Amino acid sequence: MTFEVAPLEDDRPKHFCGVVGMALEGDAVPHLKKALRIIQHRGQESAGIAVSTGGAISYVRGMGLVHEVLTGRQYNALAGNRGIGHVRYSTSGSSCAENCQPITVTTKEGDLALAHNGDIVNAGSIRDKLQSEGWAFLTSSDSEIIVRMLATELSNSPDPVRAIKTVMRTLEGAYSITMMLDGRVFGFRDPFGFRPLCLGRLPGGYALASESAVFDVLKGEFIRDVLPGEIVEISSSGATSTRTPAAPHCAHCMFEWVYFARPDAVIEGREVYQVRTNIGHILAKEQPVEADVVVPVPDSGRAHALGFAEGSGIPYAEGFMKNRYIERTFILPDQSQRDEGVLLKLNPIRSTVAGKRVVIVDDSIVRGTTMLKIVQMTRRAGAKEVHVRIGCPPVIAPCFYGVDMKTREQFAALNRTPKQIAELITADSVGYISQAGLVRALGIPESELCLACVNGEYPTRIAGEKMRFQRTLEV
Ligand code: AMP
Repeated sequence: MTFEVAPLEDDRPKHFCGVVGMALEGDAVPHLKKALRIIQHRGQESAGIAVSTGGAISYVRGMGLVHEVLTGRQYNALAGNRGIGHVRYSTSGSSCAENCQPITVTTKEGDLALAHNGDIVNAGSIRDKLQSEGWAFLTSSDSEIIVRMLATELSNSPDPVRAIKTVMRTLEGAYSITMMLDGRVFGFRDPFGFRPLCLGRLPGGYALASESAVFDVLKGEFIRDVLPGEIVEISSSGATSTRTPAAPHCAHCMFEWVYFARPDAVIEGREVYQVRTNIGHILAKEQPVEADVVVPVPDSGRAHALGFAEGSGIPYAEGFMKNRYIERTFILPDQSQRDEGVLLKLNPIRSTVAGKRVVIVDDSIVRGTTMLKIVQMTRRAGAKEVHVRIGCPPVIAPCFYGVDMKTREQFAALNRTPKQIAELITADSVGYISQAGLVRALGIPESELCLACVNGEYPTRIAGEKMRFQRTLEV
């Protein structure tokens, strides 16, 4: 039997991933594994850790969930009181073992391992330059480019902080990185602070992680976010910081709060759960509807729906059973597989919706696949009316900083009014939170956020796209 494989519009790996780093008095291996399990939601395609006791690095990485990869003879043989780890987000375009992280190489200054979350927007031109200088690349990932640049810098001068600083001056885009060089553990975050990275204390040492829940679960304590442009080195007894210039305005990705991070994560001082319930409250005021029940799309729409119920006074109830063992439908390569996936994943709870005017609340609509299927199944289960409320403004522009939404033509909201979107997904009405409402829910000034996917204004220069704060066209 042969299968037609849908063409992939972008075969580069996307880096909406999770990273950790640790320096402890005792063995870090089991703690690194636990930390990665806590941020497993940030990536289910591959996982890996690299550890050291001060010199050579040993590692285990591979395709699969953390508990599937970090097991067995090789894992059991790992030992080291310092280490870094990575979970990789699964996308249709880049499902291959060669892109697993941490990436490990040997440099003039010792073994280097690197774990990266984000997307480098000038990776292509850097790669071309490095290739013309004679470098060969093993993978298609941006992260390998960073490793090669660091190795080159280290061959000029042994100081890792200086090497990181120099590399940061060339990189454009999103990166929250943990790195280990000759047993020293570093974390650094791009000058815009697109992706989260935080610093915490653990029993017997210090750690870096994409999300603060890691410190809670490992009985440690969250200290603070790594600042945009900051380089932090951790040891078992402390952390040292080197500042490089932050961008004049940060660009924290709003989608971290809207969808990606755990509800118990605190990013830039804002708890994700609280932001989502704020969104629900504001959405209820901005897009009111007469209805009998508010129903969340599990799990991502739950806190938004709770806020909507509180804000509107309409009772909240669980309306869908979610099968947790079905793969992520968002990333399936073709439309019929995505349609089928949603049906396998969700089934309505009849008593909640039958004979009622239902408001379904979810965090976002990208292509509209999920919501069309959900509206249809809600009607089949006997709902009288189906209204949809969304906790993110209409997605109309691609993300170049790591979120897997790149194909403009597929966006349900592009060139459609809410009425036309309602027709597309067969709902009685659709209402989105406004950009101003979202900014208010976050409590972070608009100038410090990346809202490019909803307003098409990018914080960094991208060919053919409008730049944030740009008021006149370049000539
Ligand atoms: P779609 O079906 O294409 O409209 O996607 C929207 C659904 O997928 C919503 O339920 C979101 O929670 C979820 N979603 C949105 N963005 C992403 C993303 N980048 N990766 C995975 N899931 C997403």
